[in-house]
Amino acid sequence: MSKEKIYIFDTTLRDGAQTEGVNFSIDDKKKIANALANLGVDYLEGGWPGANTLDTNFFNNAPDLKKTKLTAFGMTKKTGRSAENDPGLSALLNSKAPAICLVGKSWDFHVDVALGITKKENLENIKESAKLFIKNKKEFMFDAEHFFDGYKKNPEYALTCIKTAFDEGARWIVLCDTNGGTLPNEVGEIVSKVANEIPGKNLGIHAHNDTENAVANSLTAVLAGARQIQGTINGLGERCGNANLISLIPSLVLKKTFSENFEIKINKDRVKTLTECSRLLDEILNRKSNRRAAYVGPSAFAHKGGLHVSAVTKDPKTYEHIDPNMVGNVRNIIVSDQAGKSNIISRLTKYGIKIDKNDPKVQTLLNEVKDREFIGYSYDGADASFELLARRIMGEIPKYITIHMYDVSVKKSASGEIISSAKAQLEVDKKLSICEGEGNGPVNALDNAIRNNIDNLGKYSKYLKDLKLVDYKVRILNTGTNATTRVSIESTDNKGKSWFTIGVSPNIIEASFKALIDSLDYKLYKDNAPANN
Ligand SMILES: [Zn+2]
Repeated sequence: MSKEKIYIFDTTLRDGAQTEGVNFSIDDKKKIANALANLGVDYLEGGWPGANTLDTNFFNNAPDLKKTKLTAFGMTKKTGRSAENDPGLSALLNSKAPAICLVGKSWDFHVDVALGITKKENLENIKESAKLFIKNKKEFMFDAEHFFDGYKKNPEYALTCIKTAFDEGARWIVLCDTNGGTLPNEVGEIVSKVANEIPGKNLGIHAHNDTENAVANSLTAVLAGARQIQGTINGLGERCGNANLISLIPSLVLKKTFSENFEIKINKDRVKTLTECSRLLDEILNRKSNRRAAYVGPSAFAHKGGLHVSAVTKDPKTYEHIDPNMVGNVRNIIVSDQAGKSNIISRLTKYGIKIDKNDPKVQTLLNEVKDREFIGYSYDGADASFELLARRIMGEIPKYITIHMYDVSVKKSASGEIISSAKAQLEVDKKLSICEGEGNGPVNALDNAIRNNIDNLGKYSKYLKDLKLVDYKVRILNTGTNATTRVSIESTDNKGKSWFTIGVSPNIIEASFKALIDSLDYKLYKDNAPANN
């Protein structure tokens, strides 16, 4: 028997973007879209073209999403005007998106109170909107807002709403638990009943996490007949979030109940990119990863002390529900130097460094990493800094540019403009030079100081000419007067490689400087630059 297909619909860039404190730039949107296309989701909702310039731009210059269908979000037509003359719908029609997801009301309470129109007018709005997109050959989905609450109060009207869209030819009817208050047993019951009226292969589920059940509700909906799941990376979304695709996808692919009966486009190989995908979003949002996130959290496969560890070392299945590699995560045994050492060795192997575990340098590196992590370093997202630290201890990194002093000051002009100036004294092959630069902030000024004087860096000039800082993030690690600052820098060069470095210090400028110097050193090392004489 061939397996039924489940479709994955990602709305990180639309529903996820509505979260407080989230402001994606166009570049962020492209990065996330590429990661999701690479993962292999079926639909990617890019935003609401016409509602704001950012979303309109994103749709006008959408990246190539390969087999993932770009979907535009919007709202059913306004009462009192035809679908053809609704500017909101025109913006969607004119967008390059092949699929359209239109939200509309299915709860009579909302029709009466929020819209203040008659129930009949609402049905008319659904019907005419659906007709317009289907006539224009767009793949049409109807997002039935508040469907579960509506169904509980007035099942007949809620069903009429979705049947209206379905009868016009909607590919998908998405049942939304917009307020997120519905429990799994209710979702199972209601979806089963709806599936008697509209085939399950045309039903989707859009669950919010207000009772911590968005993932459970989505899985239950599939068991009850629905075949499309909407959700976001890491469950990003307003209030308590949306259904978390990062938890849902591995359950669909790796757990028998689902893997034996259903298939999704994301294969086991792609599932291995989930941890990376989850961390990418944290990185973009400058948020600390949720240690305890299911499947992908740094603690998801961490074992500490005693019996658990000794059992896990005999056979990981004793305390792990899956092999962490399957989702791109790693086992983390927090117990002894011995275990720490094997973690270090496996990380070194990644960089092509071969070393015997009894080499005293491994212990030195382990101690150094522990000391640094204690004061706030975190090498999880800073591979380049970790590799440099390891290679420095191995004695493989020569001394490159020597920095004798630097001076950074900030001043506010009479016109209110804030300018940072930086000055640094550098030495290359015994030749001293002073670099000066200005910028809108201290790091920008330091970076400019080096960049403006790139020709004075002697033999290193040619190596550093194409180095660019592409991103810069600051995190304050503890509150109060003893706050420590961690600065992460993403750099790139003409070869298109990018690398991440970090610096930690109680002083933000010192932390920035450390991260900046690691970035320069990494570039010089990778390009085989000669040592300073
Ligand atoms: Zn939603």
